[in-house]
Amino acid sequence: MNSKLPHLETTIFTAMSKLANENQAINLAQGFPDFDPHSSLIESLNYYSYQNYNQYAPMIGVEKLRNFIVAKVEKLHQTVYHPENEVTITNGASQAIFTAIAAVIEKGDEVIIFEPAYDLYKPAVEMFGGIVKPIRLTYPNYTIDYTKLKELITDKTKLVIFNNPNNPSGKIFTKDDLIQIETILKDKNCYIISDEVYEHMTFDQKEHQSFARIPSLKDRIFITASFGKLCHVTGWKVGYVLAGAELMKEFRKVHQFNVFSVHTPSQYAIANYLDDEHNYQELNDFFQQKRDYFVNGLSTTRFEIIPSEGTYFVSANYKNYSDLNDRAFAEELTIKNKVATIPFSAFYHDKFDENVIRFCFAKQEETLDAALERLNKL
Ligand code: PMP
Ligand code: GLN
Repeated sequence: MNSKLPHLETTIFTAMSKLANENQAINLAQGFPDFDPHSSLIESLNYYSYQNYNQYAPMIGVEKLRNFIVAKVEKLHQTVYHPENEVTITNGASQAIFTAIAAVIEKGDEVIIFEPAYDLYKPAVEMFGGIVKPIRLTYPNYTIDYTKLKELITDKTKLVIFNNPNNPSGKIFTKDDLIQIETILKDKNCYIISDEVYEHMTFDQKEHQSFARIPSLKDRIFITASFGKLCHVTGWKVGYVLAGAELMKEFRKVHQFNVFSVHTPSQYAIANYLDDEHNYQELNDFFQQKRDYFVNGLSTTRFEIIPSEGTYFVSANYKNYSDLNDRAFAEELTIKNKVATIPFSAFYHDKFDENVIRFCFAKQEETLDAALERLNKL
């Protein structure tokens, strides 16, 4: 068979979770909480299932949830999206990103991504004949080199994929970064995907700067988000995309024949749960406490910690322990020391290895304690 993606391997998240299970290791690799979502959310899901909200949802998503999203974005970012024409509920942020790429990328189009980059972007672009042009964020602060970015943009640049707060680095880009990008792309015929799934996990009073705050780009930007992160239900796979009306029309042409609509009772349950805004406004403090707890425990090890400003990840350089490459080190740590993590090379097209691994701290204190005990014995 002539594979469309001949060099693609199983995702690092699946690979490391499998290795963790096989070795009964503590899984700080794949990003998901090991604690329960709020019981009212589960009760609400039950309620809507029993009340017979079990048939197809509207193609664009349940009205109550779309209205909630529009109101939240207006309140937080002062930009108004139209609930009928400019927001669509998706099967997680992954599907939103994949569908946006499918809607705009044609053979030979160039797409800029910032590495380390979430592993979905590159294969999705290549699936539609696009050519990925990676730009490396500068270690250890993961800043953008704007001179390099300008050099990389050509007449063929069709799309820039941006992720803020950034997985895996934990970096938060500032308003100034958004403005620099706006200026660089001003006269270019190019779209943007702004992947903002960790929008409510920002620490130390750092505010999330959504691209929704740059209204001049509204007609050519897809903003993607995930209720999996917002409600501690990664397994529900519900997310959404915002885009200007013309762009959203193209998005929905793909969406309607790929997914059509998203699980109905989940959409009602999420809308109901988020009616109480504390349920998402408390997330920054909740995860900051977990970050502080975990980083404090790591500080007595010889890992060199890379500051985490947002997301539910913190990363560290392990060169004080080993000369192994990052994948081999992460595998050894899982098999011998029973703590699973993610090697950063998985987020680079050329498997660039800076001897850094990523820990997920979205875990109960006892899970973090058990992992820290093992890491402190290395
Ligand atoms: N983008 C980033 C940066 C992610 O980390 C993830 C997964 N956690 C996604 C997109 C996909 O989100 P979802 O699980 O809602 O598909
Ligand atoms: N986004 C999650 C992470 O970064 C993984 C999601 C997945 O397994 N595809 O860990």
